[in-house]
Amino acid sequence: LNRLLLVPLADVDRKLVRDVARGLRQALRVEVERVFIDVDPERVLDPDRAQYHSTPLIDQLVALGAPAPEERILGMTEGDLFVPILTFVFGEAQVGGPGAVFSVKRLRPTFYGMPENRKLLVSRAVKEALHEVGHTLGLLHCRSAECVMRASTNAREVDLKPARFCRECARSARLDPA
Ligand SMILES: [Zn+2]
Ligand SMILES: [Zn+2]
Repeated sequence: LNRLLLVPLADVDRKLVRDVARGLRQALRVEVERVFIDVDPERVLDPDRAQYHSTPLIDQLVALGAPAPEERILGMTEGDLFVPILTFVFGEAQVGGPGAVFSVKRLRPTFYGMPENRKLLVSRAVKEALHEVGHTLGLLHCRSAECVMRASTNAREVDLKPARFCRECARSARLDPA
């Protein structure tokens, strides 16, 4: 990985995108560039579920963003994402690359009736972004509690894991250990 393209989708909070880009730069030690691409999330909206199907959204990102072989492309949205077999997903990635997408909707403390907490939101969003980038670098889920590739099905599980890769995952993704 030598460059990550971070794509803000639709009405995603722009300051949050900048904060996530900064966190990704620190954790991945690669160039993170914010790129504005005209993807059309409404094409993948399921009106009955009021959710966006993440798989074809990634296809749009990859087709329009055309990442180079050593690049990855990651969309960031406020919209709720799903794949048909699950009620929702925090994000989805093409394992081995090049595309991924994640949602901040269910990372917001306010989604759970908690007070707004910017720092917690940024921390969760950086973890979720790193997790999806890890998948695009070929990583699967990791059992280590000290690894961002640990699976998380709710916000609490996101909070419990660190914003970094364990040594084995970093090595197999060919990332500099932080
Ligand atoms: Zn995962
Ligand atoms: Zn790991």
